[in-house]
Amino acid sequence: MIRITDLQKSFGDHRVLQGVSLHVDAGEVVCLIGPSGSGKSTVLRCINGLESYEGGEVTAFGRRVDRRSADIHTLRSRMGMVFQRFNLFAHRSVLQNVMEGPLFVKRESAAQVRREAMALLEKVGLAEKAAAFPAQLSGGQQQRVAIARALAMKPEAMLFDEPTSALDPELVGDVLAVMRTLADEGMTMIVVTHEMGFAREVADRVCFLHSGSIVEEGRAAQVLGTPTHARTQDFLRRVL
Ligand code: ATP
Ligand code: MG
Repeated sequence: MIRITDLQKSFGDHRVLQGVSLHVDAGEVVCLIGPSGSGKSTVLRCINGLESYEGGEVTAFGRRVDRRSADIHTLRSRMGMVFQRFNLFAHRSVLQNVMEGPLFVKRESAAQVRREAMALLEKVGLAEKAAAFPAQLSGGQQQRVAIARALAMKPEAMLFDEPTSALDPELVGDVLAVMRTLADEGMTMIVVTHEMGFAREVADRVCFLHSGSIVEEGRAAQVLGTPTHARTQDFLRRVL
């Protein structure tokens, strides 16, 4: 469904991605882990066409991802993205935030969009906050609204970039629970995370990125439990 082949990316003369290859099949959950600056966010941004790349290829749903291509917006709308910071519209209610995308695309009536948005808020446990404004919510609640907002576009895959790392520890669990439900429902997901418990329990595969290369990849239990590469061992020793 998403395929990266020998991806090369530089910022100036800094080679940030040095031949990354990764494929994600429909319904798979792949966690991307690695130290700060290893290129995790850049990989995600190349997948949804927010970033250009110099070498290799990224395809999603069988189409080449090219930031400058005419259909990049269509392609991007098939992938939901959730960032570390919630990026909600501050001056719109929770419900309006979730309705905004599908209303803009206007394939459905406002009543239908509203019904679906309420169902999504129900799903993330925030139906009673529909009329609230983002500033009235906790960080964890805001992040769950951000997930509902991404899902409102009916994406075929979801990309998460450290969705819980800006949250107070007691708020992390509710967000991870929503992500776990999505995974159980068969959503294709690529998740950059430092939550090793989540990766261990939910990921089909874990990829460890170091200095722009995937140095270890395998089933979660293997990469997290019995890593073979010294850099993975060293990283896990520090984060666990
Ligand atoms: P973190 O865990 O801190 O989020 P990361 O693994 O997501 O790190 P990236 O954000 O992908 O890392 O960055 C990889 C490298 O690319 C870093 O050295 C970073 O400084 C550099 N970089 C990222 N974006 C830019 C940019 N727009 N311009 C220049 N350098 C950049
Ligand atoms: Mg990052």
